[in-house]
Amino acid sequence: MGDRTAFRTCPLCEALCGLELTLDDAGTVTRVRGDEKDPFSKGFICPKGATLGSLDGDPDRLAEPLVNGETAGWDEAFEAVRKGLADVIERHGRDSVAVYIGNPTAHSIAGPLYGGAIVKALGTRNLFTASTADQMPKHVACGHMFGDPLAIPVPDLDRTGHLLMLGANPLESNGSLASAPDFPGRLKAIKARGGKVTVVDPRRTRTAALADEHLFIKPGTDAFFLMALVHTLFAEDRVTDRLPGRVNGLDDLRALAVDFAPERVADVTGIPADVIRRTARELAAADRAAVYGRIGTCTQAYGTLNSWLVDALNVLTGNLDREGGAMFPRPAHAPVYRRRKPFTTGRWRSRVRGLPEVNGELPVATLVDEIETAGEGQVKALITIGGNPALSAPNAARLDRALAGLVFMVSVDPYLNETTRHANVILPPPRPAQTPHYDIALTGLAVRDYARYSPPVVPLPDGRPSEAVVLARLAMIASGTDGDPAALDELIITSTLAKATALPGSPVHGREPDELRKMLDTGTLTEQRLDMMLRLGPYGDGFGADPSGLTLTRLRTEHPHGLDLGALKPRLDEVLCTTSGRVELCPSTFAADVDRLHAALRAPQTDGMVLIGRRHLRSNNSWLHNLPELVRGSNVCTLQLNPQDAERLGVTAGETIRVTSRTGTVDAIAEPTETVMPGVVSLPHGWGHDRPGTRTAVAHEHAGVNVNAVTDEQEIDPLSGNAVFNGVPVTLAVPPR
Ligand code: SF4
Repeated sequence: MGDRTAFRTCPLCEALCGLELTLDDAGTVTRVRGDEKDPFSKGFICPKGATLGSLDGDPDRLAEPLVNGETAGWDEAFEAVRKGLADVIERHGRDSVAVYIGNPTAHSIAGPLYGGAIVKALGTRNLFTASTADQMPKHVACGHMFGDPLAIPVPDLDRTGHLLMLGANPLESNGSLASAPDFPGRLKAIKARGGKVTVVDPRRTRTAALADEHLFIKPGTDAFFLMALVHTLFAEDRVTDRLPGRVNGLDDLRALAVDFAPERVADVTGIPADVIRRTARELAAADRAAVYGRIGTCTQAYGTLNSWLVDALNVLTGNLDREGGAMFPRPAHAPVYRRRKPFTTGRWRSRVRGLPEVNGELPVATLVDEIETAGEGQVKALITIGGNPALSAPNAARLDRALAGLVFMVSVDPYLNETTRHANVILPPPRPAQTPHYDIALTGLAVRDYARYSPPVVPLPDGRPSEAVVLARLAMIASGTDGDPAALDELIITSTLAKATALPGSPVHGREPDELRKMLDTGTLTEQRLDMMLRLGPYGDGFGADPSGLTLTRLRTEHPHGLDLGALKPRLDEVLCTTSGRVELCPSTFAADVDRLHAALRAPQTDGMVLIGRRHLRSNNSWLHNLPELVRGSNVCTLQLNPQDAERLGVTAGETIRVTSRTGTVDAIAEPTETVMPGVVSLPHGWGHDRPGTRTAVAHEHAGVNVNAVTDEQEIDPLSGNAVFNGVPVTLAVPPR
């Protein structure tokens, strides 16, 4: 037969690149290149995407379930899960089972389609996800401002003339909460067409080096800088009211910003007042501008204030929902008609620390409290789906110890890693090449409207359940029935069609659900659900109402390289679902939280060392450290520090330096560099693969050290519950030689 070629979306990061795979007779992926015909990525590929074949064929990837460390059949494994969960639920109640959903879940089709069903079936209030280690502030900000925590504006990269980026490093991360293949190329294009890119970051990252201007900012102080920009726009009468009658709170925000003149925040932020003023003026004067904040702004004590002020600036400069500004993507699978429910948080609170629920979940920073603290509702069992919280949670060492004390744990994960080594049962999903792909979570953040479906390119062996079936069966077990997993899909299809046909404004309003059910794609139930979503979506055929509209069959057969649905379009009216029907520019919850900024301005400044994280192009959290191509070469898990600080401590490059915080100590290799501002040290996250009982040989050999040995689970952004990973107070010392 010989080699064959297949095309699919890369599932490794948020950039949505199309890939061209070469496979041999045995179904082994022998080469990976960028898909030149993908209309969005146009052949772009990064070093991570190029290793998809290695990931697919990783010999450490689990091919079969493990039950108590021994290889087991699927029926045996599911029976062990059924018994393990049933015993805990019977003795301790439903809240005694917690669920942790990790970041890889957002990069699969099955995760978004089935993860929620597991939580719902369990009926537990103890849901934790990677979102509270990463992006929850953005959800809270958008929930209060626009009414929908998923209505996240993205910078219209291809048409903007001015981009102000805070805490974002897309040259390493390839972009986040803004899906854009070849993000670096898109930044260069802004400059090439005469625009300006400014980066605000405590490190001169590769992105900062590419930008026209880089402003060093003291870690954790972005909210003061952003407030000073808001202050300047009001004080100099530079606010553009481009949404007259559609924005509430303009005067409230003006009053709130009065105390944050650039001179007042200059010392706190480390950015001179004249530079802050100039930045505000440039932003206001730019023809098309966008402010974009990412992980560095979310993982701070003021994460939600940062996320709010980023979009407040987009409103104040007249750039929200405008070409070249900050715009709302229109994903093909998401209906535009919806019920309007006001966004709220705190519908329940965590048992031990009383932290409010946000977006249906509790902060991952308090998962350890819920496991360790005895009493009614104590977490006794855990389901993890992707993710590696034993490395990625704040004060991960404490969580790691707590996981060992669980009564029962089941993990859906391809690896026996630092987290899953605690699991009684591991249910491995199939290889990427055997898995269908459609980016449900990420196309809602793409800088162009885009859709691409990738069917599996290698068939599943007989008896091997797909990831969707694994998760659906888990949901059935969680519900106490352990029936046919197909029943879950049928239930969801039936109820979705019933709702859609009953809802005025839906393209199928008034039609018979049974008639629509018969029209669905003839593929797997997952494919039928995706077909249903696409057909009800904004570009869909409305089940025949628009014969030229999108269906899964059409996407699969006519657009195997993906379908470009065009540049982003203004759509504020479609997304806005606040109670007032207006953009809430100054929600009272956020205004109240500004008190913390006032208090910090009054408090004496401390001059101790603080820790920040960092990304690397060849790494993605902890997922990819078992691939030789990505870990070979020089050690990237070093402690970067400014040469002034290195000299003061008497440490030189390559020597060990001890970092200590309230929670612990870690010894790292020093890397003095001018790219880090004085007083700041930086360690990347996702490392620390030296623990026993794992089965990831390459990662173990390139273990690195875990930054979360010194981050603090007690420090969170109170509005979102997001963990604080930036600005962690630490002390440095050279250990005895
Ligand atoms: S940028 Fe992201 S999506 Fe594109 S090839 Fe690299 S890892 Fe894959």
